[in-house]
Amino acid sequence: MPFCPTCEVDHETAALVRHERHGFVVVHCPDCKRFLGRYRDPVVH
Ligand SMILES: [Zn+2]
Repeated sequence: MPFCPTCEVDHETAALVRHERHGFVVVHCPDCKRFLGRYRDPVVH
């Protein structure tokens, strides 16, 4: 699970704020909005 250094907690992946950007999924902490990671979009277009 993604760890947020600001909140000092692990978050469920499903709870993260997600944004799609140029074929990537960008995730942010749902509490403090800190950037937590960027993943390749698993969806096949
Ligand atoms: Zn946070």
